[in-house]
Amino acid sequence: MAGRYAPSPTGNLHVGNLRTAILAWLFARSTGRDFLLRIEDLDRVRAGSEAQQIRELTDIGLDWDGTPARQSERLALYEHAIDSLTARGLTFECFCTRRDIAEAASAPHALPGHYPGTCRDLSDEEREERRRSRPSALRLRSRVNQWAISDLIHGEYEGAVDDFVIRRNDGAPAYNLAVVVDDHAQGVDQVVRGDDLLSSTPRQAYLGSLLGYPAPEYAHVPLALNADGQRLAKRDGAVTLEDLASIAVEPHEVRALILDSLGLPNHSLSAALAAFDPGALPREPWVVSNLGS
Ligand SMILES: [Zn+2]
Repeated sequence: MAGRYAPSPTGNLHVGNLRTAILAWLFARSTGRDFLLRIEDLDRVRAGSEAQQIRELTDIGLDWDGTPARQSERLALYEHAIDSLTARGLTFECFCTRRDIAEAASAPHALPGHYPGTCRDLSDEEREERRRSRPSALRLRSRVNQWAISDLIHGEYEGAVDDFVIRRNDGAPAYNLAVVVDDHAQGVDQVVRGDDLLSSTPRQAYLGSLLGYPAPEYAHVPLALNADGQRLAKRDGAVTLEDLASIAVEPHEVRALILDSLGLPNHSLSAALAAFDPGALPREPWVVSNLGS
């Protein structure tokens, strides 16, 4: 049994990311689970960012089990899952551009947010012809429109499932596929992450069910927002450990601010762990402004 934190190495972690990492650690450790770190580096990465993020997580006092896994080193695993779906007739090639999809999706009977099904039933000849002009993405041949999940914070949540992409047309496995395959392969049965990902979770859970994986426990935690109610970002001033250190706010003080925002004892992670109660967590976003003052 394990929980995990899975950052993308695209830059420094900000206090909202660190708060989610602390929550994932608290959920895992308070339930006797291992805590794993996974680097989600299938997309564009920034040089040096992985090592930087690992330092930042260490600096606020987090620890994890084993060495961090990197998605870029696990491609065979994703291909294996994709092949098994294809062998069962559960995938199809899609040649649509973004524009094709936007146009088809605006048709009167289209389901909002769903792939319009353009390439679902192409004949072999049609596919052959389209392959000559454009590389294909691979989509899941979904048999449902909705899927329900259970979330420790949001309760029962039902969301859209469509024929989503599982392999991009550049050959890379899609995020929704890689996450599901990794969590299962790594023994992760508790998924704690930002609630901006809640709406993609029914897709992932459905995919996991097709692959025969037991459903993990989910907790989608509130994000950090800036004073204008937007998702916290680098432009919001001193929001990374590096920025904050430059105005004399040390990592243990940042951790204390984060633990304060969670209503937990703020002097150490072990004290916070002893007091941790998922049911008592704030349900509202954390509004961050002027951390250094
Ligand atoms: Zn298509």
